Amino acid sequence: MANHVTMNSLVICCIDGRMKLSALAELFAQNSLPEGTYDKVFLAGSGMALIKGTMTEEQALLEQIRLAKKLHQINEVVVVLHDDCGAYRIHDPIAEAEVQEKDLVTIAQKLKGIFLNLGVRGGIIKGTASGELSLALEIL
Ligand SMILES: [Zn+2]
Repeated sequence: MANHVTMNSLVICCIDGRMKLSALAELFAQNSLPEGTYDKVFLAGSGMALIKGTMTEEQALLEQIRLAKKLHQINEVVVVLHDDCGAYRIHDPIAEAEVQEKDLVTIAQKLKGIFLNLGVRGGIIKGTASGELSLALEIL
């Protein structure tokens, strides 16, 4: 049996491979998430699945959060969306950002209703198409 593991956070991120793992780790570290302190889930559209996905996607994602809480005692969920996301299929970047900002609030409300003592942070990675990524996480 491995040593007891605790993690501060569970990060939920889109599967989009244009965001390289090393680049994601750097962005997360810039947002007080040093590598090795968070669990992660990759799902197309990230947290979008919690409010606009199929029931199967929603249940799978909620189960990952439950498991991270049970096994690693996480105290926050970090929902990371990104621009130019294929799951959103919104071609106008301004319109996409507006929808995603609203979704982050809705996702956070839903999570806080289900997991009473988990904090929620969220943000949108910019620069997916150019590869010059940036992210500023906010408390939701
Ligand atoms: Zn995506």
